[in-house]
Amino acid sequence: MATIDGLPSLRDVINAHDLVAKRQLGQNFLLDLNLTAKIARLAGDIAGADVLEVGPGPGGLTRGLLVEGARHVVAVEKDPRCIAALNEIAAAYPGRLTVIEGDAMEVDLTGRLTAPVRIAANLPYNVGTELLIRWLTPRVWPPFWDSMTLMFQREVALRITAKPGDEHYGRLAILCQWRTDAKIVMHLPPEAFTPAPKVHSAVVHLTRLPAPRFAADERILNRIVAAGFNQRRKMLRSSLKSIAPDIEAVLESVGIAPTARAEEISLERFCALARAVAERGA
Ligand code: SAM
Repeated sequence: MATIDGLPSLRDVINAHDLVAKRQLGQNFLLDLNLTAKIARLAGDIAGADVLEVGPGPGGLTRGLLVEGARHVVAVEKDPRCIAALNEIAAAYPGRLTVIEGDAMEVDLTGRLTAPVRIAANLPYNVGTELLIRWLTPRVWPPFWDSMTLMFQREVALRITAKPGDEHYGRLAILCQWRTDAKIVMHLPPEAFTPAPKVHSAVVHLTRLPAPRFAADERILNRIVAAGFNQRRKMLRSSLKSIAPDIEAVLESVGIAPTARAEEISLERFCALARAVAERGA
């Protein structure tokens, strides 16, 4: 059957290069090129952008991004077995795909990407959340990327987009929503992948904000949120004791009941609390 780009089907690529999936590399491949092209479209305007892809594997999403007109894709893959297959795609799209063999946690991308940059990836589950946190916490804001369109286990996607009162609301929701607009844009069942993982997946699209949504010192906000959610069943007057000696008064000064729990508190209130703690010289 003809493929969307005239290149061999992903099954043929996997057979030709003997790319038996390795669980330790989080390899669950998307083999439907119509689906990967759809995910590429969810990444927004890629025609005028460089796209960073982590974990291209046999190249399903890479091909989707190229078919959808990405200006330039920089794809970082840790598995050396995939590189020859990816280089075949690069040959079909001269000058538009750079394949880098390496660990995305260590590779230096300086000078490889030209703004505007969008990140799109079906992330390896073992490093996905850590990469997300790194991309969200650069030394200076705004970061090098404009948007991220990322596949996660559904549970992680729910943690990213959760609101106060949701069971998944916690540190990741605060971190993501403080600096981006984050929404789930696609749900995928296990059968969409080969091999099928045990869990459902979802694609999250995060668009960076020009500045954090509410003013707050990042370090203080992190301390408060970490302390609050580490003991999420405890009342804030108890879980935040280490933050300020007069924590009850500080909570009340920003309209938070000292008996409230972290899971009820909005991002805006957490930021107000961080400012109040900063004013008291914490
Ligand atoms: N993008 C492909 C797709 O959608 O079919 C493959 C996705 S698969 C879930 C994750 C990919 O990330 C695998 O190809 C795996 O080898 C790669 N990978 C795992 N850890 C990595 C790391 N630290 N740096 C770069 N790639 C990694």
